[in-house]
Formats: sequence, structure tokens, C-alpha cells
Amino acid sequence: MRVLLVEDEERLARIVADGLHDEGIDVEVEHEGESGLWRALEGSYDAIILDIMLPKKNGYEVCRDLRAAECWTPVLMLTAKDGEYDEAEALDIGADDFLRKPFSFVVLLARLRALVRRGTPARPAVLEIGSLSLDPAAGSVARAGTTIDLTRREFAVLEMLMRADGDPVRRSDMLDRVWGFDAEPASNVVEVYIRYLRRKIDEPFATPMIETVRGVGYRIASDSSDRDGDDESAKSHA
Ligand code: CA
Repeated sequence: MRVLLVEDEERLARIVADGLHDEGIDVEVEHEGESGLWRALEGSYDAIILDIMLPKKNGYEVCRDLRAAECWTPVLMLTAKDGEYDEAEALDIGADDFLRKPFSFVVLLARLRALVRRGTPARPAVLEIGSLSLDPAAGSVARAGTTIDLTRREFAVLEMLMRADGDPVRRSDMLDRVWGFDAEPASNVVEVYIRYLRRKIDEPFATPMIETVRGVGYRIASDSSDRDGDDESAKSHA
């Protein structure tokens, strides 16, 4: 197994690299984001362990640039509890797993092995429901051929709805997944973001697609009425 470790704390990098080496894993280490990105793109690795807070280019940007360059090497992101970025965001930008600092080496090793076993994921499929499409890899959304600009959180909310494929998504699940477990349960932030999304996804078009499911949450309804409720268009394709 060959692993790239991008971590600027030299002592931590050395401990992890030595530990991995003792497990028979080939490790290469970079201490900042730009060189880490370059090496990730040039080399061939089974996995990348990527710290978030890095000099020159943070791990968040490195991961996004990697995916934008169509490099799908599994990424295990190292996050910090009070870091600038949270775990939901790490996953949103294409990381495959995250580990919160401080971590135990045994846990790191287990997560790394699990990640490598899963293998390099295929490019995520484009999700389509009716005239609406969302490309998780490119981070783009379009309806009826018109590109729609969304913020990262709007995108994350819409992606959850699209993945549910017409089934209702619970408000509390959105809160957990998009805002994290620390989100205030009474907060109306989900409603606010649904309003933002409706303004962009529904209002400019003839048929609204975001439906409120009373007492539950929201769902996406297909706007293609010419197919007896079917579902070919609601499935995702590559
Ligand atoms: Ca760091």
C-alpha cells in the first residue's frame, strides 16, 4: 500500500509516517498544500491522508483541486474540532472519510485500511430528477439547461434531496448532515435555506419542484408529468 501524507506538523507527520512504515506501508510526506497537491497528482497512491490546516493551500482546497482534476484517490481528511472547517464540509468537497484530531494511530490505521479496501471510487454519478440535474463531482446544478449557482450549503441541501430520489428528507437529518451535530435543533436554518433554494430552483421556472412534506421535511418532485409517475428520469446515471 502506498500512501501520501500531507501534514505540516512535523512531529505528528513523523510519528504517523513511522507508524505506517512499521505496518509495511510506503509513505511519502509533504508539509504544505501546494506540494501535496502536486505530488498527489503526479504520483500514484492508494490513499491520501490530508490535514485541513496547511500552509500555502489548505487541505480543503487541495481536496477540491484534486477532484476538479479528476483525481479520485481516496482522501482521509484530518480535522480539528474547532477548526475553520467542519466534517460535513470535508465530505461535501470530496473527502471520503475524516478523522478528528487528536486521533489514535490504531484508529487511523483502521480507517485507512477500510478506505483502501473500498477502492478508488468511480466519478460520482450525476443526479437527475425531471429537468433538474446535480453533478456532485463538478459541484454544478442545472435546470432545463440553465446553470444555477448555489452556495456550498444550498448545494449540500439540494444534494440530500436529490439523493432521496423523491422520498421526503427529514428536516432533522438535513440539520445533522449539513450543519453538523452541534446545530441548534430549534433553529429554522433549514427553512431559510429551502427558501433560498426555491428562489433559485423553482421561482424562475414554471413548475415548482421542492415540496414541503408536513411534519416531516421536504422532497423533490419531478416536473416531467408526461411519464406516469415513473422513475426512469429520477434515477441517477453516470
Ligand atoms: Ca496543520
